[in-house]
Order: sequence, then structure tokens, then C-alpha cells
Amino acid sequence: MLCDRCGAPAVAWVRYSGAHLCKEHFLGFVERRVKEEVRRQVDLKPGTRIAIGLSGGKDSSVATVLLHDIVSPRRDVELVAVTVDEGIAAYRPGGIDAARRLCASLGIEHRVIAHRETVGLEMDRVVALDPAAIPCSYCGPFRRQALNRAAREAGADVVAVGLNLDDTAQSILMNVARADMDRLARLGPHDTAQPGLAPRIQPLRTIPEKEVYLYAMLRGIPFHEATCPYADRAQRGRFGAIVAQLEEAAPGTRHAIVSTYDQLRPMLQERFLSGEPRPCGRCGEPASDALCRACELVGQLSRLAAA
Ligand code: SF4
Repeated sequence: MLCDRCGAPAVAWVRYSGAHLCKEHFLGFVERRVKEEVRRQVDLKPGTRIAIGLSGGKDSSVATVLLHDIVSPRRDVELVAVTVDEGIAAYRPGGIDAARRLCASLGIEHRVIAHRETVGLEMDRVVALDPAAIPCSYCGPFRRQALNRAAREAGADVVAVGLNLDDTAQSILMNVARADMDRLARLGPHDTAQPGLAPRIQPLRTIPEKEVYLYAMLRGIPFHEATCPYADRAQRGRFGAIVAQLEEAAPGTRHAIVSTYDQLRPMLQERFLSGEPRPCGRCGEPASDALCRACELVGQLSRLAAA
């Protein structure tokens, strides 16, 4: 196959648009959409500091490189990368190592924040204490809390995360299926800051996972290619399979899900967003109840440990 635009050998067939693209045009196709998203999601005023949640995997590594491309011509915008160490011995050390090397090669400050220091427990210990639970139901709130705290400590105005189009469509469907209107209304990207909460931006939210992978390969972006040993117990996997089936049957479905959500979001926010967060009674992080979700879960684990 040849590139539709220049006749060079194609490296990608973009099924949802029907385009065949060579390496150069494929890279440009990804970069253009990411630049548009960043411009749409964040006002890069002088002095802006962006914290990137960098796990060392392909999505966050590609997001880091692309954000670096976008802001490096500017001396008045800074990046800092934050890796959350969940305490999963068979998985996380490789990601931390990859993140550290990527940041060193790009000249980006790199920080690591561990569940051990924020909630006092590693995920391996959490799984031992509550083997019947879905580990991500603990790890997700712990990670959100850690990332927010690290971003605040780093003086960041926004937090960039590497969620791709598939992840975004999955999150929307998952919250629709649970009728979790509050969470649905709170999904990023965030256009307003709430006290103590750095708004999230999602530079890759229109880029399908396979395109992120191909982009990393074509540009030689190093990343940690491993799967968390607890991932197969996540509900997200089931919704990922559903989204993939829908996309296979009708290319463009992922974009349609996200676009529908974007159109409904202002109504959801008006109807379902409750008041401003208040400080958690235990850790001081933003919470919608007396305790934040992470502290509620820590309490649950303490009871299990004492039983
Ligand atoms: Fe944590 Fe679940 Fe991700 Fe593993 S798959 S790192 S347990 S959120």
C-alpha cells in the first residue's frame, strides 16, 4: 500500500478514515491532533508548570515526548514528570527505570511518589490483606491522591495523563453502565480548577491505542512494555473488550462515544456536580465527604488487618 498523500510506502491504515499513511504523514497526523487537544484543554500562559503522570508505559511516555515537543520552544512553560510507585514488585520497578531514563534524555525533572509514603501500604500488601477485592479499586483512588499531592508539591498548574482514545471511551461506558453520574460529570479533561485539585488534561484522548503504540515504535520512544499482574482482575478490561468489538464492527465508534460525551458533559456537570471539595478529615486532600476515598479504603484495610 502507498501513502494517499505522497505515494511513499504506507506504514498505517487508519480504518476509521480509510487513509493509508507513510511514516512522515502518520507522525504528523498524530502530532497535529495532540497539539489541537493541548491548545483546546490548557492555556499555556507564561509560568505554566505541567506535571505529567509518567508510568513509563507507552501512553504516558508518548504524551511526555509530545508535550516536550510542544513546550520546548517556550522557556516560560515547564514540565515535571511524576511516577507513582504503587508497590507492585513484579511490575513497577521497570516502569520507574524507563521513566527515569526518558526524563534524563529529555532534560525533564522526574519525581517518584510511592503509595507507601501516601497511604502507608504497598499494593502487594493490599492484595494480601483483601484478596477478594479488585486491586484497582484500591490502587486507582490511591494513585489519584498521590498524583494530586505530587503535582501540588511540584507547584504544577495542571496534571497531564496519558489516557488514549480507547481508555477514554472505556471510562465513559463504564460509568454509564454503573449509572455513576457524579463520576461521569467529573471525567477529564478539566477546564476549571477546584481548591486543592490540579485540573487534569489528556493530550492523547483522541488518539487510538494502536496509533500511540505505532507512534512510539516509529519514533523510537523507549517505554516499559509490561502489564500489571493485577490488571486481569480489573473491570476496565471487560469494557475494553466491548469497545474493541464495537470499533471492529463499526470503525469510528470510539470517536463517536467520546464526542457524544463531550456534547452531554456541560449538562451532566450542571445537573450532577456537587459543591466544591473540602479537606479530608484524615489526610487533608480534597474530598467530597468527611474522608477522601483513599482514606476510607485505608480504614477498611486497617479493619481487615485487625480482624
Ligand atoms: Fe494499579 Fe490496577 Fe493499574 Fe495494577 S492495573 S497498577 S492494580 S490500577
